[in-house]
Amino acid sequence: MRAFLSFGSNVGDRAAHLRAGVAIVAGTDRYRLSRVYQTEPVGGVVQDDFWNLVMELETDDDPWALLERAQAAERQRERTRDVRWGPRTLDVDVLWVDGFTSEDPRLTVPHPRAMERAFVVVPWRELAPELVSPLDLERASGRVVVLDTLEMLQ
Ligand code: ATP
Ligand code: CA
Ligand code: CA
Repeated sequence: MRAFLSFGSNVGDRAAHLRAGVAIVAGTDRYRLSRVYQTEPVGGVVQDDFWNLVMELETDDDPWALLERAQAAERQRERTRDVRWGPRTLDVDVLWVDGFTSEDPRLTVPHPRAMERAFVVVPWRELAPELVSPLDLERASGRVVVLDTLEMLQ
């Protein structure tokens, strides 16, 4: 099954948080990563820029197990939840899972705010131009600046 997840970090060593999160979420499954983008925070809280990327994952696990992995990665990076949409070491969201939809508030898929956000659609389109159209890119908002591949970043 094909799935896409979004990763973001804006506290401490952002590259280290992203690398550790990617390893935990991917486990032994095959994956591809977009480049990393520096992006402005959404939600109005004053905080540092995020580094964001999107992962394509090929997995036999179900979407709830993916959410578990995402939350395990956040816990491992000692993410705290102080303010909604506030700063965090690591945020991992399930964006889309092939053939699966859910309106459960604990796992809403496709992610209901994904297409509004340039920091999601720009890296996502790198991996899946058939799922994210040029119109989706135009409609999404927020400043995004490409940095490099996660491998190359310090
Ligand atoms: P946003 O969802 O707008 O990006 P956020 O990522 O800051 O906001 P969190 O505090 O990380 O929100 O997550 C709140 C809850 O969202 C989690 O407890 C989780 O169960 C739930 N949730 C619902 N759908 C998803 C999804 N597709 N991916 C990850 N978490 C989800
Ligand atoms: Ca999020
Ligand atoms: Ca989240």
